[in-house]
Amino acid sequence: MVDETNISCVKGVGTEIAKKLALLGVVSVGDLIGNYPRRYDDYSTVTSIKLIKPGPVTIQAVIKDVKGRYVRRGMHITEAVASDSTDSVRIVWFNQPYRASSIKLGEQYYISGQFQLSRQRFAIMNPSAELVSSFPINTARIVPIYREVKGISSRQIRRILREVLPVISSQSETLPEWLIEKEDLMSRSAALRAIHFPRDTEELEAARQRLGFEEVLELSLASLLNKYELLQDKAVSIPFNTGCAQAFVRSLPFELTNGQRLIAYQLFQDMSKTQPMNRLLEGDVGSGKTVVAVMAAVMAISDGYQVALMAPTELLARQHAETIRRLLTPIDQEKTIAVLTSGQKLKQKEAVYARIASGEAQFVIGTHALIQDAVKLPNLGLAIVDEQHRFGVEQRKALMAKAGHMPHLLSLTATPIPRSLALTLYGEMDVSILDEKPAGRQPVRTKVCSPNSKEQLYEEIEKELQSGRQLFVVCPLITESTNLRAKSAEQVYKDLSETVFKAWRVGLLHGKQKADEKGTIMKQFVDHELDILVSTTVIEVGVDVPNASVMLIEAADRFGLAQIHQLRGRVGRGKHKGYCYLMMSDSSAPPERLRALERSNDGFRLAELDLELRGPGAMYGTMQHGQLDLRIAKLTDMRLIASARQSAQLLIDRQTELSEYPILFDRITRLRAVTNLN
Ligand code: ADP
Ligand code: MG
Repeated sequence: MVDETNISCVKGVGTEIAKKLALLGVVSVGDLIGNYPRRYDDYSTVTSIKLIKPGPVTIQAVIKDVKGRYVRRGMHITEAVASDSTDSVRIVWFNQPYRASSIKLGEQYYISGQFQLSRQRFAIMNPSAELVSSFPINTARIVPIYREVKGISSRQIRRILREVLPVISSQSETLPEWLIEKEDLMSRSAALRAIHFPRDTEELEAARQRLGFEEVLELSLASLLNKYELLQDKAVSIPFNTGCAQAFVRSLPFELTNGQRLIAYQLFQDMSKTQPMNRLLEGDVGSGKTVVAVMAAVMAISDGYQVALMAPTELLARQHAETIRRLLTPIDQEKTIAVLTSGQKLKQKEAVYARIASGEAQFVIGTHALIQDAVKLPNLGLAIVDEQHRFGVEQRKALMAKAGHMPHLLSLTATPIPRSLALTLYGEMDVSILDEKPAGRQPVRTKVCSPNSKEQLYEEIEKELQSGRQLFVVCPLITESTNLRAKSAEQVYKDLSETVFKAWRVGLLHGKQKADEKGTIMKQFVDHELDILVSTTVIEVGVDVPNASVMLIEAADRFGLAQIHQLRGRVGRGKHKGYCYLMMSDSSAPPERLRALERSNDGFRLAELDLELRGPGAMYGTMQHGQLDLRIAKLTDMRLIASARQSAQLLIDRQTELSEYPILFDRITRLRAVTNLN
């Protein structure tokens, strides 16, 4: 057996189990080994029965008096007595009728489970029981808990892993020997063994360190190599023009914050070089990133170059176009600005292509449609990508092909992650952090509400509506779903517009509507022809309606922390105080992350907390990193991250021939191609 062996070749894995495992992403033996536990239950301490206390316990005992019976239809109970030299204890299994016949009387067992009260008497409930003489995997040790799907339990996964132990022990080393010595790391095979079969907590921690180090190292190497590659490309120099910058700043309806000024200056400096800029601008929602990006754009345009701005949704692209039209008063905008989205008709698109290709349109705003082949941007000087996306290798190549040179690149993101982490995840970019909000911004007042207090809440909202403000209502789903009890936008829209808020103008917005329809509804809301907008999370990113001061999030417990923080960034943008109500789906106690949102408005602090609460693997999925998957490194472990990053730099400085480490090399190559633009 080797890593590539299909999992169904392992003893005891039939086609059914193989199918289930595939749902967990496990197809080969190697996949199973790379499927790290989600957490562990510590059952390693074996206690005398006399001394056990309520909670998780392990005992070593013989089992007797095993009796199974049906208490009612579909409810089977197996009871037994376990004894050691100190005392006896009752053990109980529900719905495991095979137990009675499988117990070997008189043999020594390890028994691990919850010691708790059941029907007025203490018992060890649903324990794992394994012969001491076998190789126990579910008892008397630190027991790993895996992601499970219906039909596959952690117990089964542990058993299959025991079968592949020889493969785990013969894993080859991936890192250079000198690095392992220098960083005092566990060998790869020892670490993999310890992650699945830890002997003790120290060994487990060392294994986590080793595997986490490797993950961050791979990521850092991939982004450093990308960075060096990018540095070899030539960009056009866009000289800094004081007059142009001053005129633009004077035309703004507000004063720039110091942070905005400093970062704009950084961008001007970057763009004046013939090395392509590749900068990430990170700033909390509402911190005013757009205007900074537009300053850079104006500089490029006034020097005769084209600028492309890419947004993740059509809605946002249109909004940006509006904002930019307002900001660009001094320039002849009708000619200058072009909007391109995939929702446009072919005719419309072709007209836009022509204006772009001729160079007449200088500021091109759109969705991913912008980087498609048909778009020729002969004079592209600067490309900007907004919200949670960055330019991957492929996109850079595409942009370069359009222009014949590498444009300067600017990525904007409102996902605030700590700087050291940003440098690792986005190591190929320079990072600017806009951590100051425009003056006078008041924090959004956030409150978790229970469905029982709905009436009162509606009264509070009504007051805001009466004083001329507008309301966002955000729902997790578009239409009612039978298996989820969550609220749908359609249902909430119906409820609110027909009952409590029937005196107000209510609109409905969701992702399934046609682009035109969405655009119209959004415009009505912006123009205050609607008082209430019921929507799904399509409004999550970037939507800017300063008069909307209240947001009600339905079934808020179904949303992640970062997502709610993004959402509530839509209110309290203007001069009015913002309110965000987090409605629970039921009257259970709210999760810690919702409480955290009540306490803090600081996106950076919340992001750190979110990482803590969710633990390793937190970035996966939420950050849309494609294949980028940090499964084990704790992203809040700054020491680990720093040492892995330094080591990546060291490998490059020493001109290490990476192809001599084929496994590492393969992974890095894959990571280098990963991009968010998918
Ligand atoms: P985000 O960083 O979330 O993209 P935006 O760029 O959309 O934020 O800006 C949010 C709002 O703040 C916009 O209405 C914008 O016009 C306004 N704004 C930006 N900078 C300032 C400033 N220095 N003073 C006052 N308002 C500002
Ligand atoms: Mg924005």
